[in-house]
Amino acid sequence: MEPRHLLLAFIVLNHSLTTVMWWVGGTWMGLSRRAAMHWMLASLANGLALVLAVLDGGLSEVGVLGSCSLACLGAVSLRRGLQAFVKIPPNEWAHRATAWGVFAFNLGVAWPFGFGSVGIVVSCAAVAGVLLRTARENFAPFKTEFSKTTAIVHAATLGTGALLMGLVGATVATRHWQWPWLQLDPAWTRFILVFASQALSIICNFVLGYIVVMRLVRRLEHLSHHDALTGLLNRRAIEYLLDREDQRLQRFSDPYSVLLVDVDHFKRVNDRIGHGAGDTVLCAVARTLQAHAREVDRVARYGGEEFCVLLPHTLHEGAEQAAERLREAVSLVRVPWDDELITVSVSVGVACASESGESLQSLLRRADEALYQAKAEGRNRVSAAAAWRNPGAKSA
Ligand code: GH3
Ligand code: MG
Ligand code: MG
Repeated sequence: MEPRHLLLAFIVLNHSLTTVMWWVGGTWMGLSRRAAMHWMLASLANGLALVLAVLDGGLSEVGVLGSCSLACLGAVSLRRGLQAFVKIPPNEWAHRATAWGVFAFNLGVAWPFGFGSVGIVVSCAAVAGVLLRTARENFAPFKTEFSKTTAIVHAATLGTGALLMGLVGATVATRHWQWPWLQLDPAWTRFILVFASQALSIICNFVLGYIVVMRLVRRLEHLSHHDALTGLLNRRAIEYLLDREDQRLQRFSDPYSVLLVDVDHFKRVNDRIGHGAGDTVLCAVARTLQAHAREVDRVARYGGEEFCVLLPHTLHEGAEQAAERLREAVSLVRVPWDDELITVSVSVGVACASESGESLQSLLRRADEALYQAKAEGRNRVSAAAAWRNPGAKSA
């Protein structure tokens, strides 16, 4: 078997696998469907372009021009996929003009009228331009959403691709116009081009796969830590944070406080105006609590109409002040629903963890008892739990 055949087999295998990977990802796994479909087309077009380039041992000029046109379609599809993925408004008109313009020029003008070299140089310039623009427009979004390293690797891959196309264009130009200062060996250049294109395509698909999976993982993380109705942290997330705060207390004696906030007579809202109104009230209370809590405080939906606020580095007095501020803010809220403005109030139980011997369960029990106290005293009020007493110390 000739080395050329091995290379062909490798190109076919590599591009078939990536094409199938994007098709399966987009169709069956719902991974950024539009982006995956564009990347599938890019893989297919680039694979065919490379196959034509390798087959070109005496292949007619139309094959080379076809290969260049496919490479251009591949670059445009890659860019469209990335624009769909990072939600940059697509330049539909420019994309169509570039991809179809190069096809039309190569096969409608360059080939029949004998301007093959011009067609190749134009195609290379178009591909390099598309790749450079893609690298530039995605750098900031990639850096923000993923990491600086991801943005650099992605831009460097596309930049190298653009350089490669520049090299091909320059080689053809030097052969055609016989520029004496840039004479490159065509066989050597083609060898480099095909291998480098393969390497770049593997790196590029790897980066694309990485960003798709990273986005999916972040979404799942967000879903598992947030409440679907209010967007606040959910019970699992606040329990994790409470546990961490408890560890800090045990290790560094750093105090913290917990507020349990329960909406008063919430069942009446549901029963009188319906669950839709109830949900809207819950969202309004959630927004108010979040808006009036400090930046470092964490607000979570703890249960149905119950919220939990974690106040790090806060003692009794500060916690009671915060609870009162939140209670008052909620009591001023008016929730518009149909023709009425729904008023709402909350009762708050406050407990402070300042002794390293107390368990988290005990702290939450004290906050819950204080909340029941506030309810029993007439609602729309704050009740603070008495400081924890170490049972061991008492009996000693
Ligand atoms: P109290 O002042 O004693 O707290 O009275 P309450 O009516 O607020 O408390 P109760 O526990 O009797 O009722 C809570 C209601 O909250 C019952 C439940 O159907 C409702 N609820 C829980 N989760 C949701 C939700 O996500 N949306 C809506 N609309 N209602 C919810
Ligand atoms: Mg309630
Ligand atoms: Mg309740």
